[in-house]
Amino acid sequence: MEPVKLTAKDYKTSVPIVWCPGCGDFGVLNAMQQAAAELQLPPENLMVVSGIGCSSRIAGYINSFGFNSIHGRALPIAAGAKLARPDMTVWAAGGDGDGYSIGTNHFVHTIRRNPDITYIVMDNHIYGLTKGQVSPTTPHGDVTKSTPQGNPERPLNPLALALELGATFIAQGFSGNVKHLRDLIVQATRHKGFALVNVKSPCVTFRGRQEFNVIRERGEYLDEKHDPSDWNQAHEVTQWTDKVPLGVIYKIEGVPTLEGVAEEARQKALERRSFESTTELIEVFR
Ligand code: SF4
Repeated sequence: MEPVKLTAKDYKTSVPIVWCPGCGDFGVLNAMQQAAAELQLPPENLMVVSGIGCSSRIAGYINSFGFNSIHGRALPIAAGAKLARPDMTVWAAGGDGDGYSIGTNHFVHTIRRNPDITYIVMDNHIYGLTKGQVSPTTPHGDVTKSTPQGNPERPLNPLALALELGATFIAQGFSGNVKHLRDLIVQATRHKGFALVNVKSPCVTFRGRQEFNVIRERGEYLDEKHDPSDWNQAHEVTQWTDKVPLGVIYKIEGVPTLEGVAEEARQKALERRSFESTTELIEVFR
């Protein structure tokens, strides 16, 4: 009998979606469900781990194993899941406030360990769940509830940071272009190693609906002239200030993954000596 072909509908859940009408995160959810269908991922073989924030509710909206975890800690939990079950596809998801503020430490160290996971960040330049405070990616000078005279700080550049840290796949999408975003998530998932997909995903409530138009006007889709294997070209793209790059910015294959390195260490330990029992083997790794 032919196996049943999964569609995006198979990744929907009955959990009520509580996002504001028009929130950019709807586009990201659709793109993730379409990507899962494109990859024909059995729901029981997919894990979605999120942190805390509006966007982190996404773990409950996808028919898969899910963990709406703690603030800024999606990445170590996702990496741990991948280590325990390397056969599973693991997606981490969250917002800029979650991942690029309290979660920066984990962002840095997860990138250098290169687990084979995909991190989808819904970057809306604001803290939405806590009602509109300045976030690490809020543009300089922007008025928010916590910066009534304008943001005095320069924003963090997650693309440039990931590149400097040695991320092996870096892309940027827009929740207003679901098809393009779906393709980026598919490519990121197929990539063997840590993949960052930063998504411009407007918060219509605290930054206004015009944010969609701003990204549409400033968005520049990378074409064949851009070589994602060229670090210098990727670096130049991450420094754009007048345009918003959309597409795969950087990609390098063949870098050992966290779970690959762990498996190699396990094999070496097994070669060194024999064990009486699994318990004894576990003790060696404690
Ligand atoms: Fe989306 Fe902003 Fe509403 Fe949160 S507050 S659900 S980010 S529109």
